[in-house]
Amino acid sequence: VGLVATGSMAACGDNSGDTDSGSGDKAASAGKVGVILPDTKSSARWATADLKYLTEAFKAAGVEADIQNAQGDKTQFQTIAEGMITSGVKVLVIVNLDSGTGKAVLDKAKASGIATIDYDRLTLNGGADYYVSFDNVAVGKLQGEGLATCLAEKKYTKPVVAQLHGAPTDNNATLFKEGYQSVLDPKFQAGEFVKGPEDAVPDWDNAQGGTLFEQQLTSNKEIKGVLAANDGLGNAAIQVLKKNKLNGQVPVTGQDATVQGLQNILTGDQCMTVYKAIKKEADAAAELAIALAKQQPPTTATDTVKDPESGKDVKSVLLEPQSITKANVKDVVADGFVTKEELCTADF
Ligand code: BGC
Repeated sequence: VGLVATGSMAACGDNSGDTDSGSGDKAASAGKVGVILPDTKSSARWATADLKYLTEAFKAAGVEADIQNAQGDKTQFQTIAEGMITSGVKVLVIVNLDSGTGKAVLDKAKASGIATIDYDRLTLNGGADYYVSFDNVAVGKLQGEGLATCLAEKKYTKPVVAQLHGAPTDNNATLFKEGYQSVLDPKFQAGEFVKGPEDAVPDWDNAQGGTLFEQQLTSNKEIKGVLAANDGLGNAAIQVLKKNKLNGQVPVTGQDATVQGLQNILTGDQCMTVYKAIKKEADAAAELAIALAKQQPPTTATDTVKDPESGKDVKSVLLEPQSITKANVKDVVADGFVTKEELCTADF
């Protein structure tokens, strides 16, 4: 396939967006909605898909939305939240940077009578009114199963599997891990796979993920598979494997169906990714937020998730993730999440 897979997206075009959605003219009966996204470097999704789909959803409904990104900075997160609360938002939607600082923001919002939604990440003990996400244990299971399939295809006997977990401060990382370890641990115990080094990557920092994987590979040259919790960490591992001329021989997992991740799959450097239809997630969050902003009782949050810290049930919308390998990259294109042109390929 004719791909540009250099790690630079410059040749593939870019879809960056503005941080503010247009205010609508039909907003009379709805209050303003504030949305705080976490960063732009733990995954490409926050600066691209989430921003784009959330902006579009509020615009289409004619509801004013202030969508900002905290750039990985907890103080900035707090400052943005305070600004939104002061400006009179009726609903606050957050993707927390950790549960402690997320809870502080949720508490302030609630004290001002603002409805709150946890978007993608549950704020532990945060008491948000609603939660919109995917079945994140299922995400992890798909990763574990995908890696097992790729290792079987390579016909390795007793392959050593390394693990790069997501941020220990992200409840999702805990859920992903629960999912993939439910697949991997029995195989370690049965001696089918050998448990290699594992690290949790603070803040999902991709560069740090690369450094940690380099150390893992130095400590164990026999690594034959890498369970990386998202595409950014997967790509960091792939860059290290490339330096060691091992890319393609050592299957690596991912998540988010980023352009980079999909390119790595098409070139054979990455085993799989997990596609989470972010348009559906953004639409679900926007629909809930809009109902709340119009002071209408929401009807869509029919799932429940138990907050493991408070023990309380949170009304939720939980969506199903999909496993993507070379064989079905086209499903992600067909769903409109990426274009063929973005993947820079003519023939897949
Ligand atoms: C999200 C993933 C993302 C990761 C890093 C998680 O909470 O569910 O989609 O890759 O954070 O931003």
